[in-house]
Amino acid sequence: MQALRIWMIILGLLSVPEFIQAQIPFQSRADFAADDPCGYDSTRAVIALQNLGHGWGYNYDSLLVDLQRWAQSPYVQVDSVGASVQNRALWLLTITDTDPFTEPAYRIWIHARTHPNEVQGWWVTNEIINILLSETPLGRTLRRHFIFHIMPMYNPDGVELGRPRENANGVDIESNWHSADPEPEVRVLRRLFETYMASPLPIRIALNMHASYRCRRFFVYHDAKGTSAAFAEDQKKFIGDIRSYWPEGIQNWDYFVSWKNGTPRVYPESWFWINYREAVMALTYEDMNCYSAGEYDRTAHAMVSGIIDYLNINPPTGITEQPAASAPDRFSLQAFYPNPVASAGAARIRYYLAEPAKVTIELYNALGRRLQSLEHLSDQAGLQFAEIRLPPLSSGVYWLVLRSRYGTLSRRFVVLRRTAGLY
Ligand SMILES: [Zn+2]
Repeated sequence: MQALRIWMIILGLLSVPEFIQAQIPFQSRADFAADDPCGYDSTRAVIALQNLGHGWGYNYDSLLVDLQRWAQSPYVQVDSVGASVQNRALWLLTITDTDPFTEPAYRIWIHARTHPNEVQGWWVTNEIINILLSETPLGRTLRRHFIFHIMPMYNPDGVELGRPRENANGVDIESNWHSADPEPEVRVLRRLFETYMASPLPIRIALNMHASYRCRRFFVYHDAKGTSAAFAEDQKKFIGDIRSYWPEGIQNWDYFVSWKNGTPRVYPESWFWINYREAVMALTYEDMNCYSAGEYDRTAHAMVSGIIDYLNINPPTGITEQPAASAPDRFSLQAFYPNPVASAGAARIRYYLAEPAKVTIELYNALGRRLQSLEHLSDQAGLQFAEIRLPPLSSGVYWLVLRSRYGTLSRRFVVLRRTAGLY
């Protein structure tokens, strides 16, 4: 027994320390599968686990300690939303501080630790949480206009068992989304996505946080051959808006192009694309899984600042959110439904006029361009109902604008062109 222990110590000394591994030029490591953005390397994953400690330096207990701390913030709600194979709770943070009289503009989803060894994707997420909870102009802007849902540890069993990529059943839950009988973790996430997508405020951006042995920071871009020309352009804008805050730190959109041979069905991004098309910007982000990783705060700052720019969170030019100061009791838009609405479908609105007045209605796209003016509505006083037939529209965000002499009312809504679901 003693001899075995001595041999283990000697073997431990012979294993290659990480600082030597880091000297290996990454370009020479051609053994990464071409279609795997994480560039998995089992040797490096094991060495990193030895160096960083249990859970690659952030394990389930680390998360439980942080959850207690975050829960003390008035902006955070902590929920257990399901369980892993080994019955560990999957925890979800919801962070927002929207005015109860103003609708939040966008819902954002972020999850990390699908692949437990890619802990750097979590460290970036952690810095996003820090910004969201901070008493800074950026933190306040984000809380006022967004609902953020953040799942810090999607694969807690893998973290605890020291499995670099798999859950307790030995399954890679990143690519389990097309299974007829998906893993428990995948079922939890899919149910949440379905719930939010059916809500009046569907998910607009979904980020899947990883870290790559390619030792670069980049987004996994989906080629137009697997998505659409419009979505390809939209991704370039999204990645470009984030990258504009740190061009030397984050790679351009063309660093890793995937889906060149069609649409894969196995990933969470596949699920979003197949079901909701351009309505959701669902992308994987890869931080650096290597010795030179770091500057997670700078990455997080670029990400949230780019998201604000990309979504143009203020109403488009020429549209005011509220009518003139004295008017709410004379002219108000009380309901718009359904939201999301189907392309070429009908939306119903309920509005109130204190006195007879002419009301016109206009349709704008997210960039503030007027698409259509519709017939003027009833001029009568009182509570009014109207059905609006929408023209065929591509998936995305639109604004309905009602004008009368009492002011201008606007309502943001989402159009979804649904395709046949996978499940
Ligand atoms: Zn990964």
